[in-house]
Amino acid sequence: MSFPENDRIFQSDSGKTFHNRGEQLEHAQDFIPVVAQALKLDFGGGPAAVKRIAKLVHANERAVRNWFEGKNGPSGEHLIVLMFHSDAVFQAVLELAGRSHLVAAVRILRAKEQLRDPMSTNAFDPDGLIFALPRLTIEPLPRDTAIPGRRSFGDLGTSYNGFTGKERMRTDGIAKWLTSLGAMRGHQACDICGAQAQEWHAENYFDLSTWMDICRGCHRRLHARFRGLGRWFDHLEARGVRANHWSRLVSPDPFDLAGLLRHRGATEPVYESFIQHR
Ligand SMILES: [Zn+2]
Repeated sequence: MSFPENDRIFQSDSGKTFHNRGEQLEHAQDFIPVVAQALKLDFGGGPAAVKRIAKLVHANERAVRNWFEGKNGPSGEHLIVLMFHSDAVFQAVLELAGRSHLVAAVRILRAKEQLRDPMSTNAFDPDGLIFALPRLTIEPLPRDTAIPGRRSFGDLGTSYNGFTGKERMRTDGIAKWLTSLGAMRGHQACDICGAQAQEWHAENYFDLSTWMDICRGCHRRLHARFRGLGRWFDHLEARGVRANHWSRLVSPDPFDLAGLLRHRGATEPVYESFIQHR
């Protein structure tokens, strides 16, 4: 459902703007015909539309027919549910409340969503990203390597790519353990800017061999990209990062990569995963 092209159709017959409370009340009385008009615009008319709305908002069909015919208006609760399902009703209510400017704001947000949609659904290719991730070697540990006792790694509190804060902390604990035993190398150059790296970055927390060295500055910017993708690409541009580098293929919006990988059978690594099998 979309906003009607013509803004004016929800104007009251009086066409007044509000100057005092009395006029506001008068305007609010247009509520019943305006809602009727909005419902017809978004749902059409006839018994099928009545049935559909009755189902959507859990109201009886007779009541819904009355809304359509302008005999009654919906209750507050029903109105809220209608606003959820119908942009036309949502817009009508904003206009009755003298908040027409918000209609314009919502339209702009919708238009932005539509612009972003192709990027987030088509342009982000999770397999393209996974393929582009660098690989590092993790040496299998000897069979007699002691497995650390169970302990809590805590919770980072935020998820990334669908990996929970706890999963992120647990796998980071395993990476530190592997590094301490020399099975996983220490930090080298930042994979983005080439400066000395201080941290790991993971797109896929389940596959430690795809973790990248990253400096703090690049790391902070990478995770901040959801608040401004343009700034992230400016950063990559300024560092001369090549096309098809993994950092250019990351999701423009939060994406549940963990869910996708789990669906394909991937599981979180545990200490035992890195011990040599005979
Ligand atoms: Zn860097």
